Amino acid sequence: MIRLNDSMKSCQITTAAIVSPMISAAINFIYPPTCLFCDQEVNPVGNDFCDSCLSKLKPVHSLECPRCGAPVGLYTDLTRGCGQCHRESFAFDGVIRLGVYEGQMRLASLRAKASGGGTLARGLANLLVSQKRSRFDEQSFDLVIPIPEHWTRRIVHSHYAAETISRQIARRLHACWSRRILLKSRRTPKQATSPTPLRRQQQQGSFAVPNVKQISGKSILLVDDILTTGSTAHAAAKTLKNAGAAHVTVAVIAVSPLRK
Ligand SMILES: [Zn+2]
Ligand SMILES: [Zn+2]
Repeated sequence: MIRLNDSMKSCQITTAAIVSPMISAAINFIYPPTCLFCDQEVNPVGNDFCDSCLSKLKPVHSLECPRCGAPVGLYTDLTRGCGQCHRESFAFDGVIRLGVYEGQMRLASLRAKASGGGTLARGLANLLVSQKRSRFDEQSFDLVIPIPEHWTRRIVHSHYAAETISRQIARRLHACWSRRILLKSRRTPKQATSPTPLRRQQQQGSFAVPNVKQISGKSILLVDDILTTGSTAHAAAKTLKNAGAAHVTVAVIAVSPLRK
């Protein structure tokens, strides 16, 4: 990895690992690579997941709303979004997601979020990029950033899924990554049980951009692990747009199957 010493201090690009095929083969012989989800040996070498887990984690619903990521039917009119989002206003311009937060994807997302889930989070980020490569390639992102946590939450967590996932996506896209572009300026309540209007109210004004020059006119990929109602992503994207960002696309591992 090369760190660029420019104005965007944390901007980074990735170079291919320089490991000879012989050394790599020897390492794989001594330590056979295992699936990040079930620990079974993987074949062919190089895959993060075994075939069985891969089939469970790949998107089940092939069609999705590009505005909110919800699974949609073949003949759904998406001109103004899908049935779940057409009445909602979002500050972000679209959602790229791997799957729907149910079944094995829900389990994998929970494990990736938990302490020690960093490797699985990176594997899911790799899968997201490989499965949705065409969506990522539709736009050239100037910056990849995580939805930030308040610093009081950071000090109690050993690993923060949104940060790990966003960093891995940036590596795969060869894009700049930073966790200092957007800050959580105010701690907000846990969102899981709050209704959508209350969530939006709670998130309003809870993000800040310390240096607006860094994002003026930029196209930003904003990354989280799960998208539930979209309230958090909306508030974060609104702050980025108000600070001068030209485009904000959200990328997540999974979206909730039904949003209320
Ligand atoms: Zn597996
Ligand atoms: Zn939608």
